[in-house]
Amino acid sequence: MTRRIVLGVLVLVGVALVVAFDQSVVRVVVALGACYLLLRMGMAVLGSFARPVPPPPPAGELRKVRIQFRCTICGTEVRMVAANDEVPEPPRHCLEDMVLVAPIME
Ligand SMILES: [Zn+2]
Repeated sequence: MTRRIVLGVLVLVGVALVVAFDQSVVRVVVALGACYLLLRMGMAVLGSFARPVPPPPPAGELRKVRIQFRCTICGTEVRMVAANDEVPEPPRHCLEDMVLVAPIME
């Protein structure tokens, strides 16, 4: 939608430059192409500012979870009670990822 409006304005400006100011068509097309590319790049940069990456929750706002993990090598079990995600990465023990035993429903 917006892209159509921009292209329409560029075409109108191009026609005006060729007709009213007697510029060559090739020069006008090259200039408007460069103009369009710069506009798209600027819009992309502005768009990246509009959608910032959400920051991780502060330490006081960790999600409460009750998940039990077991080490497959030595059998150690741990219970995770707070995490920054509802499905957190498993902790490591004996240099291996621990396996989920069971989420404890409240
Ligand atoms: Zn272990």
